[in-house]
Amino acid sequence: MFALTPDSVFDGQTLHRNTAVVIAGERIHGLMPVAELDAGIKQHPLPGALLCAGFIDLQLNGCGGVMFNHDISAATLAHMHATNLQSGTTSFLPTLITSPDQDMHRAVQVVSEYRARHPYQVPGLHLEGPYTNMARRGIHPAAQIRPLNDTMLEFLCGHANDIAMLTLAPEVNRDSAITRISKAGIRVSMGHTAASYEEAMAGFAAGIGFATHLYNAMTPTANGRLPGAVGAVYDSLTVGAGIIADGHHVHYANIRLAHRLLGTRLCLVTDATAAAGAPEGFDQFNFCGATVYVRNGQCVDENGTLGGSALTMAEGVRNLVKHAGLSLEQALAMASCNPACALGLEQHIGLLQAGRLANLVALDQNLQVIATMVNGRFSV
Ligand SMILES: [Zn+2]
Repeated sequence: MFALTPDSVFDGQTLHRNTAVVIAGERIHGLMPVAELDAGIKQHPLPGALLCAGFIDLQLNGCGGVMFNHDISAATLAHMHATNLQSGTTSFLPTLITSPDQDMHRAVQVVSEYRARHPYQVPGLHLEGPYTNMARRGIHPAAQIRPLNDTMLEFLCGHANDIAMLTLAPEVNRDSAITRISKAGIRVSMGHTAASYEEAMAGFAAGIGFATHLYNAMTPTANGRLPGAVGAVYDSLTVGAGIIADGHHVHYANIRLAHRLLGTRLCLVTDATAAAGAPEGFDQFNFCGATVYVRNGQCVDENGTLGGSALTMAEGVRNLVKHAGLSLEQALAMASCNPACALGLEQHIGLLQAGRLANLVALDQNLQVIATMVNGRFSV
């Protein structure tokens, strides 16, 4: 057992000062005033540091020069995890975009085996597509966008433990299929969709509980008569959403507005690609057959369509505070507590409270990462 004594601690809801975090093995034993620590306990001082639960990224295609779609393997996941630690992320959903059935099978198998060894590092797979709307496909390969068939419906439901999230378009899927997938335990998320307000609301009623990269690749509010898919998310009292805070995907005023309406149901996601945390000079990569160029921090194909981001979670937190005007607590919660709740894993990760895994990030005054801890051990 040992105690971390930082400058301040964010427990998931509140910022504390003069507070120590006591760690026993892999878990957090509890928080207590520094003055009340046992004289005998080993102390690890972190002067000037702010401690927060490790960040959780619900949508990560790749980072550090690798893409999960390109090499669906445990080695890719291990490399993504190692890269993530540099920016405070201790859990992520590897995200496979629109792919053939065989790649989806392989991704499920790879994630299943990886999770068995590192259960909270990768809480599950995020399948983004292929059951989406061609009209809002973004960079997803058109040839692979297809309807959900009964064989794949059975496959998905049979592997619900390993599939944390499935992004689909409600208007091109049967309500009964959405309900089955949701009841099997997969979080169904609306995305790459041309749904009207009414179609989105019908999807929510069928079991959709989340929205993928809010605003991007979904029907906006066109005018007073057409609330669109974005308006449906705002009108729902239960649907959460991921949002990309890189300054390229969404205007910061829209992020602020989304936060005002969704509160703790809004999660920071990176939707990052190989470009995030990549070595200096890394300027292009292959994303499902499309060449994506990294230009001034943006990832775009030859037509200028955004193809993921180069964002890290720590950078996203800084952007939320500096540019979107959120409070430090709100920004940190969007990267830790909120995504843990979206996954139903708040008893294990995402909060810096007794009983949770000792997965945490230490930040300096400028919110730069000083250190990252996984399972009670400093990794960075
Ligand atoms: Zn997408």
